[in-house]
Amino acid sequence: MVKKAVLFDLDDTLYDTLYDYSKVHTKALKASFNVLSKKIKLSYKKFLYLYNISRAEINRELAGTASSHNRVLYFQRLIEKTHNTVDSDIILSLYETYWSVFLNNMKLKKNVIKLFKYLKNNDFKIAIVSDLTTHIQLRKLSKLKIVDYIDFIVTSEEAGSEKPNPIMFLLALNKLNVLPSEALMVGDNLDRDIEGANAVGLDTVLITNKKVSLIKEDYKKPNYVIKDIYELKNILESY
Ligand SMILES: [Mg+2]
Repeated sequence: MVKKAVLFDLDDTLYDTLYDYSKVHTKALKASFNVLSKKIKLSYKKFLYLYNISRAEINRELAGTASSHNRVLYFQRLIEKTHNTVDSDIILSLYETYWSVFLNNMKLKKNVIKLFKYLKNNDFKIAIVSDLTTHIQLRKLSKLKIVDYIDFIVTSEEAGSEKPNPIMFLLALNKLNVLPSEALMVGDNLDRDIEGANAVGLDTVLITNKKVSLIKEDYKKPNYVIKDIYELKNILESY
């Protein structure tokens, strides 16, 4: 059946970090540390230790929800450990510093705009389906200057569950008013993007630079594997 819409994952599908994700994450954390070290005496090693245990606690307490990724909760927990109280100014400033560094270190993948122009010119609808909080994902769309091409976004924060939960994909299809057979899902993660979209009957496209080793489980197999996002044009034209 001819396709009418494409669902895209956001992180690592439409953009890359300028360096390794872990390098950018560390750069952002160091900037947050610099903010805090002006307020209290604390080594970077200790800060990192406290951040990591705060993150582990929040991950454990909120596993499977968008809030489990929310840096504001990590910093809130960290400040509870250093200050034994809440300090809204510091928490917000650590959060804001982290994200402003991170957002300044993203770059769109090659050919994303070229593909989006092709999709718009050919009346395809576009939705983003992403595991994270809406606030940060909206900031990424603005920063990457792609929001004008996007019809809808679904985040795990609004869906209440994360990929591969079918609700993420069904909510996007519902907003776009298309059937699963009329859409494709494109993502970089087999367990989240491909398995989840396969389960609701979407055709799936894995985008990766890595060599994909044999996938044993049928429910995890993508219909297509691509390296460059513009390869989608040929896929869409093959239906
Ligand atoms: Mg991803």
